[in-house]
Amino acid sequence: MFRIPFNKPHFTGREASHVSVAVKLGKISGNGEITKRCHEFFESRYHFRKVLLTTSCTDALEMAAILCRISEGDEVIMPSYTFVSTANAFVLRGARIVFADSSDDSPNIDASSIEALITPRTKAIVVVHYAGFGCDMDEIMRIAGKYKLLVVEDAAHSIDSYYRNKPLGSIGHLATFSFHETKNISCGEGGMLVINDESLAERAEIIWEKGTNRAAFSRGEVDKYGWVDIGSSFLPSELTAAFLMGQLEMIDDIQQKRLSIFNCYYQNLLPLDQKGLIRIPHPNELSSGNGHLFYLLAKNLAQRDQIIQGLKKSGIQAVFHYLPLHSSKFFSPLHDGRLLPNADRYSETLVRLPFFYDLRNSEIDEICSVVRTILS
Ligand SMILES: *Cc1c(COP(=O)(O)O)cnc(C)c1O
Repeated sequence: MFRIPFNKPHFTGREASHVSVAVKLGKISGNGEITKRCHEFFESRYHFRKVLLTTSCTDALEMAAILCRISEGDEVIMPSYTFVSTANAFVLRGARIVFADSSDDSPNIDASSIEALITPRTKAIVVVHYAGFGCDMDEIMRIAGKYKLLVVEDAAHSIDSYYRNKPLGSIGHLATFSFHETKNISCGEGGMLVINDESLAERAEIIWEKGTNRAAFSRGEVDKYGWVDIGSSFLPSELTAAFLMGQLEMIDDIQQKRLSIFNCYYQNLLPLDQKGLIRIPHPNELSSGNGHLFYLLAKNLAQRDQIIQGLKKSGIQAVFHYLPLHSSKFFSPLHDGRLLPNADRYSETLVRLPFFYDLRNSEIDEICSVVRTILS
């Protein structure tokens, strides 16, 4: 096993007491008091128009695809360099995915490549803020406005992160977050849909509650509830919401710690970046990041493998990801053949270093010195 693993879930110590409150309240199915408190937390802290907790970011993306009224043959533009759920949610609705390349200088979607991909069948643009650094949202929202397209932010990496002082997840028509064990704030498996476009809010609640108007019924707005649209069981139980609340109460502490881990990596590896031996992400005034993950870019695939193997020999677990979706086993027969060289390059050269709340500065120093030795 690894002496320094890639991830370790962080527990604030407050989760169990919230879960026991849920048990004492005697209602553990979804959309109870604690779920509502979680919703209020996000709506007030980030000025999200409306939020709904979900059982995962994957589920939130599936809700987003339903809300965009994607039907057979509609086209959806999104980066190839992302997690499979971003695309799967729309494929399940019959969409044809049009994969875009990443930028030259970041794994985020190359906004300047989007306009040329739009056709009369295009319905939506899905962006992924990689590592919590914002995509070029000004340009993306401008294009979406011009062609009347919906924008979904896959903000799975991006809780508590800002772009031009706006919280990520508050800019697109819809946004999705993940509270999976590997994300900054976690309840094991969990997620959230953000609905910034008021016109989608009512339908979102219906889709969330199995296609029924039960949420309106429980507020006393209708006198009976029934089947009014398509939907599924996207809402988490109160136990999950309670666990999440135990993390949300400590979000400032968690974020401060994670940002200091990011900064420690950054200071340590900056000289290697300046010498041109590797590339690292650079926080800037547009987007300062949220300490979600730290990555370096090797020169090529061979050097990437050398770094991961070298760290492994020292008991340190580093990983690479994402295999570009346009050349995946499932999608390659469906892809239109365009080359996406930056997506391929990030897939071949990106290394994610260990990143978790309890990672010590001395361990970061050690990890970085192993990287230095491998490169020298
Ligand atoms: C983690 C992740 C997801 C999926 O999140 P789940 O909560 O595990 O469903 C989707 N998109 C991106 C970019 C992710 O990193």
